[in-house]
Amino acid sequence: MPTMPPPPSEPATPPAGTPQPAVPLASRQRPARPPQHLADLDELERAKWLADLGHRPFRAKQLAHHYFANLTTEPDQMTDLPQTGRADLVEQFLPKLLTLASQRQADGGSTIKYLWHLTGGAAIESVLMGYPDRVTLCISCQAGCGMACPFCATGTLGLVRNLSTAEILEQVRLAAAAARSGQLTGGPARLSNVVFMGMGEPMANYRAVIGGVRAIAAQPPAGFGISARNITVSTCGIVPGMDRLANEGLPVRLAVSLHAPDDDLRDELVPINRRYPVGAVLDAARRYYSATGRRVSVEYALIRDVNDQEWRAAALAAELRRRGTAWVHVNPIGLNPVPQSPWTAPNPKTVDRFAARLAAEGIPTTIRDTRGADIDGACGQLAAEESRDHG
Ligand code: SAH
Repeated sequence: MPTMPPPPSEPATPPAGTPQPAVPLASRQRPARPPQHLADLDELERAKWLADLGHRPFRAKQLAHHYFANLTTEPDQMTDLPQTGRADLVEQFLPKLLTLASQRQADGGSTIKYLWHLTGGAAIESVLMGYPDRVTLCISCQAGCGMACPFCATGTLGLVRNLSTAEILEQVRLAAAAARSGQLTGGPARLSNVVFMGMGEPMANYRAVIGGVRAIAAQPPAGFGISARNITVSTCGIVPGMDRLANEGLPVRLAVSLHAPDDDLRDELVPINRRYPVGAVLDAARRYYSATGRRVSVEYALIRDVNDQEWRAAALAAELRRRGTAWVHVNPIGLNPVPQSPWTAPNPKTVDRFAARLAAEGIPTTIRDTRGADIDGACGQLAAEESRDHG
């Protein structure tokens, strides 16, 4: 990992009248990278970065404490740092990475959906959800997504760019601060769960995601101190990534977006299925359980007349049961309809029937609620809407 900040991404402007070389379109459109941030580095690297730039290395721990424990990047609140140079120190090591573009509430104030702009202007979302027994944050790991699942709003955007570890962690810090200051109904609360179910495919940005997971789980001042058991990484089924995660020695929860038990249909719904078909994905999910002892969640977005037939519930149960039943849990959820798509959710009776068939076949099953449907809560909908409006 580099210990020096990357060079500025914008080249210096040449004097007026200087002939301009032709710049290939691809390089002109390359999205800007974020500046390096303290949260991109582990504890040793943080101290070295400060020392390399002429600061006392223990300042790294002080800055990290403000960031991960106090959830702040406000110089005014960092009274243990010398006032002279404090603002510069913060600007250099805790640069601003996310700019709030919009914020919407739903479910009577127990859900807040944020749209953030990254360095370079790309948009991402995170959704904060308060429940009686927990507070869950859904975060993005990429701007856009390259997996092109046709029922998913993010899939329609294509991949814009990967997020850095610090951009992932900034979503957590800002939401944890919002929950702590009482912005959800029910009053001040501690962020307890983080799910990588926003925009992007975690296994396609593995290094930044695993850096983020480690820092979410580490105790302050190394990280936010949210138990790894309460972190969920959701994948469309990239088998090598699933195996890699299984061997990290982290008890994170794995969710697999299956959406169909048969390759013919899954090839359409989750195009990466052509590379990693249903059987290979379920085998990898089963290995994940063996390695970690964590039950794998199988996600199944029910789409009316596409994948919601009772025979498909039976076929899914058979595929899973072939590998046992202790290792898996199915979460059917009604599709959150995406504008300009012909697909919609089945009626609730069909959802119940699908879930009941799985349960009758011995598969642990819980219908997932759809938080924030009235604020375009489904994956990528806010950002897709913005890119339609401005793009
Ligand atoms: N790329 C990862 C994580 C992001 S999506 C993955 O595929 O798992 C998080 C979950 O939301 C996935 O299960 C995804 O299939 C599902 N999803 C996407 N669009 C949806 C929609 N319109 N309605 C319901 N679920 C959706």
